[in-house]
Amino acid sequence: RIYLDWNATAPVLPEAREAMVEALSGVPGNASSVHHEGQIARTVVERARRAVAKAVNAPAQAVVLTGGATESNNQVLRHHVRVTDEPFVICTAVEHPSVIEVVRDLEQEGVRCAIWPVDAKGRLDLGWLEAKLDEGATLVSVMWANNEIGNVYPIAEIAELVHDKGATLHVDGTQALGRIPVDFNGADIDYMTLSFHKMGGPKGIGAIVLREGIKIEAILAGGHQERGRRPGTENVPAAAGLVGAMAALGEQGDAWREALQRKRALFLEALTEQAPGLELRGDLEHTLPNTLNVAFEGIDGEDFLLAADLEGVSASSGSACTAGSLEPSHVVLAMGFEHDDARRSVRFSFGPATPDEDLMEAARRVGAIVERLSALMV
Ligand code: PMP
Repeated sequence: RIYLDWNATAPVLPEAREAMVEALSGVPGNASSVHHEGQIARTVVERARRAVAKAVNAPAQAVVLTGGATESNNQVLRHHVRVTDEPFVICTAVEHPSVIEVVRDLEQEGVRCAIWPVDAKGRLDLGWLEAKLDEGATLVSVMWANNEIGNVYPIAEIAELVHDKGATLHVDGTQALGRIPVDFNGADIDYMTLSFHKMGGPKGIGAIVLREGIKIEAILAGGHQERGRRPGTENVPAAAGLVGAMAALGEQGDAWREALQRKRALFLEALTEQAPGLELRGDLEHTLPNTLNVAFEGIDGEDFLLAADLEGVSASSGSACTAGSLEPSHVVLAMGFEHDDARRSVRFSFGPATPDEDLMEAARRVGAIVERLSALMV
């Protein structure tokens, strides 16, 4: 089988797997316990914190470990509203549901909110943001890179605008980590949220990275872990896996990114050859090096994906969170595509370990499927 759905989740790296197995068998303690076993578990958790800090260029004390980016996003947005007089929350129309649905909930609860629209390529208009900041927006939530179309957003420019007007910036860096350089300090962000299963770490562990001096309250009650900011027994095996994954990332960083860029070009060339009439979606000039969002003329995305699955190619119609529903992706709809047109979107995402031959073979199978499905339609 050929797995081209890394943006849903990436295969666990060997370095992560080995560290997790070792922790599962060799670290029995609870990181909050004062005895020897507890202290060993504590060491693992603190190593994970330092590993995240190093990977994104932030101080270790800025990192709060959580159960993933969904949780992190919920916590940041809810915290902001709780501690802000007259909160006014902005998020882009292409955010992950763990941002956009919280914003909708907040709106229901009476909080002033606005959704930042995108153009047909999924790009953002900074002028729109400036106007909202002038109207008193207090929090701007924008992803570093989009999980569905791969667009990379100009975080540094956005940060400058947001801070000039005295507002706060939250960046969901989940899809950026491991794929493009992520420099927390350099980008001048207030809150950054992360998840580690998109780049070869374990699922169920994420982080919030905080600008110096910014505090965050827990959304759960009942424990003092993570200095009261994230109650609940620490996930020590996942923390160990995280250390392994970050070590691999540190070693391979630039090489991985270059490999991804080369693979993307190769795959795109092969797809264009095998599937004539291929339509590309998103902002191709500012894109993740591992993501391709495409559409095939007259072919419904779900029909394509079922056929591809039968042929041993795993891709996606958008985020795994909306997969299985008949609704088209909110991201592609936000780009202005009509319902049926939006449903044609197919996302291929791969990683540094995806062999070139797999991409070539996937393109061949895709070409054959497109030819067969097109013939059925006439
Ligand atoms: N944000 C983005 C941009 C994502 O792609 C995802 C995962 N699909 C999430 C947040 C949610 O992350 P998690 O799976 O860790 O909850």
